[in-house]
Amino acid sequence: MSISSVVIVGAGHAGVQVAASLREEGFVGAVTLLSAEPHLPYQRPPLSKAFLKGAMEADGLPLRAAQFYQDKGVDLVLGEEATYIDRSARCVELASGRRLAYGHLVLATGARQRPLVAPGIDLEGVLVLRDLTDARGLRERLGSARRIVVVGAGFIGLEIAATATSLGGEVTIVEVAPRPLGRAVSPATSDFFLEAHQAFGARILLGVGVVALHGQNGRVTEVELSDGAILPADLAIIGIGVLPEDGLARRSGLACDNGVVVNEHLETSDPLISAVGDCAIFPSPFVGFPVRLESVQNAVDQARCVARRIVGKPEPYAALPWFWSDQGDLKLQIVGLSHGCDEWVVRGDPRTRAFSVFGFRGGELAAVETVNRPGDHMAARRIIGARLPLSPEQAASLEFDLRKLAASAPK
Ligand SMILES: Cc1cc2nc3c(=O)[nH]c(=O)nc-3n(C[C@H](O)[C@H](O)[C@H](O)COP(=O)(O)OP(=O)(O)OC[C@H]3O[C@@H](n4cnc5c(N)ncnc54)[C@H](O)[C@@H]3O)c2cc1C
Repeated sequence: MSISSVVIVGAGHAGVQVAASLREEGFVGAVTLLSAEPHLPYQRPPLSKAFLKGAMEADGLPLRAAQFYQDKGVDLVLGEEATYIDRSARCVELASGRRLAYGHLVLATGARQRPLVAPGIDLEGVLVLRDLTDARGLRERLGSARRIVVVGAGFIGLEIAATATSLGGEVTIVEVAPRPLGRAVSPATSDFFLEAHQAFGARILLGVGVVALHGQNGRVTEVELSDGAILPADLAIIGIGVLPEDGLARRSGLACDNGVVVNEHLETSDPLISAVGDCAIFPSPFVGFPVRLESVQNAVDQARCVARRIVGKPEPYAALPWFWSDQGDLKLQIVGLSHGCDEWVVRGDPRTRAFSVFGFRGGELAAVETVNRPGDHMAARRIIGARLPLSPEQAASLEFDLRKLAASAPK
C-alpha cells in the first residue's frame, strides 16, 4: 500500500535529509517537518568550530534556504515539540495541542547533552553546547572570559578547547578517563591529541572528575575536582557526551534501549514508524551488534535509506561510517568502526602532524584514523568499503601505494 503522507519529528541533519530525499525519490504525498527549535534548520558541526571562533556567522549555518522548503512542498513547522504518538489513531500530538495525522512517521529527534550532576551546575557561566542558542551564548562569553574550564575531553570538548585557546583563553581540560578521546580513537591518536592540545596552550588533567562548581553572586568562579584541586574559572563548559533523545518514543510505547531500537531497515517496533540519526540504535553490519552513531554521515545516509524505503525501494542500511573533527590546524577523519580492533599500526610520523592509524580486527582492516591526510582517508573509505585485502605491514609502509589499491575497488 503506498504511503500518502510523512511526518518527520526533528529537523536536524537527519530530518531535513529525509524530507529532501523523499522529494528526490519522487514522493508526491504530504511531507511535514517538525522542529522543536525556532531556527531555520541548521548545521551543528560549525557550532564548535568556525561559528564559535567568529569565522562564520549564523547566516552560513542553514542546511537549506527557506525557499527550499517552499519549492519542495515541505511543510516546515518550527518551534513545535511533539509530545506523544497516538499510534492507534496514527497521529502525533504537539505541545500546542495540534494533532498531525501520518501515513508514515520518522523520528529524527537527535540527542541531548549528558547532564553533569554536581552542586553548582546551575550557576551563571556554566554552559553546554548542543544547539545554536547554546553556541550564541558561548561565543558571546568566550570573548570576555579569561580562565576557562572545559569538562570532558571528547570531540566537542576538545574542539571548544582549541577554539578557546586560539582566542587567548587560559584553558584547562578536565577528563575523568585516563586518555582524551579514549572511547573514540586508538591510543596513538589519543596520545597525539593530548600533546597537540598542550602545544595549543591548554592544560589537560586526566583521571579526575568534577565534584562541585562554586560561585559568587550566582556566577561560577571555581571548579572543584575529585582530587581536591580547585580551578579558578570565569567559564565552565560541560562536554561529557550526549544521550539519545528518545523520550517521545518511550512515552509512546516504542522499544528503546540507549536510543530508539530499529532493525536493519531502520523500522522501529512499530512498522509505521522509522527512526534515524543520533536517536536510533541499529544493527551495524560492520560490527555485528547494535550501535548508535553520532555523526552527520550516519544521519544523512540513514535518512536516504528510509526515504527510499518509503517510496518502495527498501534495502538494509549498510553505509560505511565516517566522521571528522577539526581541532586547531588538525583535521581528524575516521572511517569504519574501531570496536574490537586488536592491532593498530601507524603510517607516517605523528611529529609531522600528518599521519594515519590503521586498526585491524582479526587481521581485517576495520577502521582508519587520519590526521591532516585526507588522501589516506579517501583511500581507506574505498578499501574498507570494498573489503580489499590490506596487511598491517602494507598499511604501515609509506612505500605501499594505498591509492592504487583503492583504485582497484569495484565502482
Ligand atoms: C557542537 C557540535 C559539533 C559537532 N561536530 C561534528 C563533526 O565535526 N562531525 C560530525 O560528523 N558530527 C558532528 N556533530 C554531531 C552531529 O551534529 C550529529 O550527529 C547530527 O546533528 C545528528 O543529526 P540528527 O538529525 O540525528 O540530530 P540533531 O541534529 O540533534 O537534530 C534533532 C532535532 O530534533 C529536535 N527534536 C527533538 N525532539 C523533538 C520533539 N519531540 N519534537 C520536535 N523536535 C524535536 C531537536 O530540537 C533537534 O533540532 C557535532 C555536534 C555538535 C552538537
